[in-house]
Amino acid sequence: MAKPSVAILGLGIMGSGMAMRLLSANFPLAVYNRSREKAQPLEAAGAFLAATPREAAARAQIIISMVADDNASRDVWLGESGALSGAAANSIVIESSTVSVSWVKTLAAKAVERDCHFLDAPVTGTKPHAATGELLFLVGGSADVIYLARPVFAVLGRDVIHLGPIGSGALMKLVNNFLCGVQAASFAEALALVDAGGLDRAKAISILTGGAPGSGIVKRVAERVTSNEFTPAFALRWMAKDLTYAVEGASGVGVSLPLASSALGIFQQAIAAGHGDEDFAAVTKLPHTQRKS
Ligand code: NAP
Repeated sequence: MAKPSVAILGLGIMGSGMAMRLLSANFPLAVYNRSREKAQPLEAAGAFLAATPREAAARAQIIISMVADDNASRDVWLGESGALSGAAANSIVIESSTVSVSWVKTLAAKAVERDCHFLDAPVTGTKPHAATGELLFLVGGSADVIYLARPVFAVLGRDVIHLGPIGSGALMKLVNNFLCGVQAASFAEALALVDAGGLDRAKAISILTGGAPGSGIVKRVAERVTSNEFTPAFALRWMAKDLTYAVEGASGVGVSLPLASSALGIFQQAIAAGHGDEDFAAVTKLPHTQRKS
């Protein structure tokens, strides 16, 4: 069976890995990135480099956006020369960025106005999982459309979980990430107390990661701290963005998330202190979490 043509909009840490994976699997691929230079490795590997999201979308049956946030998603889909203006009727429009539930519902309505099918399909997994096709897709939308998109999901992901109607994937992703953000922020506070109390940091980290608090996310942050390696796999500013969308979205349905709000405050301070472009594990560098004089 012929492989569907695909467009990837956004060639950051995640989008570039996904695009390269599709190319390796011989999918006809068009790519777009706001900063053109980031697209050059993909062009060199055989992708069609589009000048606009519209041009990329016009060449694809399945169009996937993997950009920063709601604003970036709005720009690539609906901006001047946006992808929806180039998408053919019946193409499959997939928003894989982590965006707010309210935005994804608005975007879905715009896609349907253009006679396109829509899925919100954010992912768990990070840089290496994007590059090796081991993402987990959390999907909202119709089962029929998921079925149509399965050749692409099969190459990019280890599994696809259908959570319900449009917006369900986005909501699940925000629940997932606010829990990660809260744990990372609380680990930063734990380290501050370890240091201020004069405990041996290495021993404390070993006890915490080897015991009940040693969740996947705590272990991941601890590894970064131990190796003093903060090159981003997932940028700190995007964790703050996810906490923001979780808190705002929860508030919209009458749920308050005080721990997520508190963690958000800590991440915002880390951004103000210049750590926004580092890996989110850099939340542990925040002076706020150090000993008070
Ligand atoms: P990233 O490396 O920072 O890349 C962000 C991408 O968004 C870049 O292509 C950037 O273009 C584009 N962008 C930003 N603002 C834009 C705008 N106004 N118009 C058009 N394009 C814009 O981020 P990432 O880590 O790949 O993450 C992408 C998405 O996946 C985010 O929603 C993130 O929360 C989510 N996610 C990330 C991870 C992870 O581990 N990294 C895991 C799961 C989900 P430029 O190159 O021009 O700046």
